[in-house]
Amino acid sequence: MDQAKQFNLPEQPRDFGFFVDGKWVETGNRKLVERRSPAHDVLVTRVTRCTVEDLDDAVAVARKAFADRRWAGLSGSDRADVLLRAAQGIRARVDELALLETLETGKPIAQARGEVLGGANIFEYAAGGARALHGDTFNNLGDNMLALVTREPIGVVGLITPWNFPFFILCERVPFILASGCTIVAKPSEVTSATTLLLAEIVSEAGLPDGVFNVITGSGSEIGQAMTEHADIDMVSFTGSTGVGRSTLLASAGNFKKVGLELGGKNPQIVFADANLDDAVDGVIFGLCFNAGQCCVGGSRAVVEKSIAAEFEKRLKEKFAKVRIGDPLDPRTQMGSIITTGQNDTILSYIEKGKAEGARLVCGGGAHAAKVGQFIQPTVFADVTMDMTIAREEIFGPVLTITTFETFEEAIEIANDTIYGLSASIWTTNLDKAAQAFRRVQAGRVWVNTTITGGPETPIGGFKQSGTGRETGIYGVEEYTEIKTVHIALGGRNHWVA
Ligand code: NAD
Repeated sequence: MDQAKQFNLPEQPRDFGFFVDGKWVETGNRKLVERRSPAHDVLVTRVTRCTVEDLDDAVAVARKAFADRRWAGLSGSDRADVLLRAAQGIRARVDELALLETLETGKPIAQARGEVLGGANIFEYAAGGARALHGDTFNNLGDNMLALVTREPIGVVGLITPWNFPFFILCERVPFILASGCTIVAKPSEVTSATTLLLAEIVSEAGLPDGVFNVITGSGSEIGQAMTEHADIDMVSFTGSTGVGRSTLLASAGNFKKVGLELGGKNPQIVFADANLDDAVDGVIFGLCFNAGQCCVGGSRAVVEKSIAAEFEKRLKEKFAKVRIGDPLDPRTQMGSIITTGQNDTILSYIEKGKAEGARLVCGGGAHAAKVGQFIQPTVFADVTMDMTIAREEIFGPVLTITTFETFEEAIEIANDTIYGLSASIWTTNLDKAAQAFRRVQAGRVWVNTTITGGPETPIGGFKQSGTGRETGIYGVEEYTEIKTVHIALGGRNHWVA
């Protein structure tokens, strides 16, 4: 596609059934979830409000597909072939997927396209994981004993995903789960289900056996909750808010299912006085504005050395004014709309709280004027102390706090003064300082002189209340396996009963 290609709003909303056992299931007389584009307020998709019975049926299908080994019994090489063909299928439908993603999320089309192609790239990486997955042997237990440690797919995985990166986050999970040999019942966010449904079709067309990847759409509190409680689901991989993550963990206790949690963050951007200031300013702006701040690893807390704070603030303000906010269908747009009116209200109320708590407004501070849709100005508060709500709670919008420090120890203390531990960025030209800081900062992902970057080779996940478990990398395949130890006696038995 030409990067400058302009898409138009669709004239009709697109209707979706749901996907079970390799086939589309029609909505029939079930209720619908209607999605209006948050940037245009136009009806763009309609998906099915599935019932708990639909979920039970899909779990039974996934269980059968796991138990009869139609997928788990294949070689890693055969599984990899399917994942590689699926990557081609994603690339072939990039325009369709990117447009739906933009219409449902309000994210810029150029970004959506990058995320779809990134998803294909992850499938290609994970295909290697299907072949690389292996166990271990113990050949040091004496001549009469050999032990093996094997990895086996855990079984039926319930996959619950959020609305902020519906396709990309899905692709950070699905090919790894499939590489391990598991089967899946996925439930996307009710406001962004379209691309998850299409992925199921694409992987099916790539040769995935029926019943291995099923998608149920509908409400989180009903279907999501039922998934976490389901006695026939072996593992739940949940990505979303820390609050729902906690309820997932509790609900999963029923059958002791394994739980992978990727949750919220309040991620520091530590800027030392010796940083390349222009790079740091640009990185902090990108880290805040990417996906309109609705990004779990977004750097929403600038922790800045006092001696450069005034200059940092000045350059930040100048550059923020240049961020292109607007229609996400315009290929030049850098920052689109906020996902729902509810989330928009939440962000605006945090901005008001910041003002009321005495933080100093540097720029932004409210809605971004638009004829239609909900947009928020990138907003910066300075003189923020760590007891303020805006410094502690995840806002999930383009709101930055600036807190200053004078010593290295103080910087680390502020960075770690949070219940979260998802990511952190460190800006300095001093390698020693960078290494000392990345050792001390409590976060699953740390960036030095950059932010929000990486590839499927490396694992992602959180410390503290940002989650448990890891996705992507070879860890991301292992995450969906059980470990089995096998002892083999050699050369006959030394009898216990004479
Ligand atoms: P959310 O927790 O409201 O919803 C996430 C998913 O859970 C959705 O599919 C939703 O339908 C479902 N759900 C809702 N209630 C449920 C319940 N009771 N039981 C089971 N499932 C339920 O989160 P969101 O608003 O969609 O996404 C924003 C949040 O996700 C932010 O906190 C963000 O930090 C987090 N997030 C984390 C990561 C990460 O990798 N750590 C990535 C993206 C988003």
